[in-house]
Amino acid sequence: MNAMVKAEGVHKSYGAVQVLKGIDLEVAPREVFCLIGPSGSGKSTFLRCINHLEQVNAGKLYVDGRLVGYRQQGDKLYELKDSEVAKNRRDIGMVFQRFNLFPHMTALANVMEAPVQVKGETKAVARERAKKLLDRVGLGDKAENYPSQLSGGQQQRVAIARALAMEPKLMLFDEPTSALDPELVGDVLDVMRGLAEDGMTMIVVTHEMGFAREVGDSVVFMDQGVVVESGNPRDVLTNPQHDRTKAFLSKVL
Ligand code: ADP
Ligand code: MG
Repeated sequence: MNAMVKAEGVHKSYGAVQVLKGIDLEVAPREVFCLIGPSGSGKSTFLRCINHLEQVNAGKLYVDGRLVGYRQQGDKLYELKDSEVAKNRRDIGMVFQRFNLFPHMTALANVMEAPVQVKGETKAVARERAKKLLDRVGLGDKAENYPSQLSGGQQQRVAIARALAMEPKLMLFDEPTSALDPELVGDVLDVMRGLAEDGMTMIVVTHEMGFAREVGDSVVFMDQGVVVESGNPRDVLTNPQHDRTKAFLSKVL
C-alpha cells in the first residue's frame, strides 16, 4: 500500500538558516503519527511543506503517492500552477494552535464556508454536513454561536469540524491544544481520539505525551531539523535511546 506521506531526505532552508536537514519518514494510511520535539526543531515547517505552504529545497516529499508540488506526465515532472496547488491542498485538513475562525460567522457558517466557496457545494448540502460535524465534535447545540461566544476548546473543535468539512484524506494538527486552558484540553483530545478511531490519517505535533502514548501509532522525536528517534510510542516515550530524547522528555513529562 502507498504511504499517505513519505519524506525522503527533505531539506528546507530560509535563506542561510537550515531548518530541515534531511527528514526521512513514512506515514501509513489510517496511522496516527505524533511529532514531538523542542521549539524551533522544524515541526511546523515540516507540516507546512506537506501541504505546500512551503516548498522543499531538496529531497522528495510525497502525499498519497504524488510528489508534492509536481504533476507527472509520462516520465516528466511539471511544477504545479498555483491553482493546482490550491486544489491539492483541499485534501489536507490543517488545525493550528490558534483556531483562526471567521469572527463574524456562526460556528455553523464557519464549517459551511469552504465547501460552498471552494468546492461550489450547495448551501443545503453543506449545512447538513456541517450540522453532523458539529454534532460529532460535541457542539450540535452551539451551531448558531459566534466564536466570541465559545470557549477556546469549543472554538478549536469548530476548527476541527471546519477542516473535516472538506473531507480531507489527511489531517495535520500543529499543537492544537497548546493555546488552551488545561481544563479545555481534554475535550479537544477526545475529538481527535474519535477521529483516530474512525481511521483518519493524522500527523499531530503535540506536547501531550499522554495522547501520543495512548492514541499514537508512532512517534517521531525531532531536534534541530533531523529525526533523532522514532518508533512505537511506548518504546520512544518510556525507553528513549538517545540523550537528546531523554533530555526533552524529562522536561515535558
Ligand atoms: P517548531 O514548529 O518545531 O517550533 P518551526 O518549524 O516553527 O519549529 O521553526 C524552525 C526554525 O525555522 C526556527 O528557527 C524558526 O525561527 C525558523 N523559521 C520558521 N519559519 C521561518 C520563516 N518563514 N522565515 C525564516 N525562518 C523561519
Ligand atoms: Mg511549531
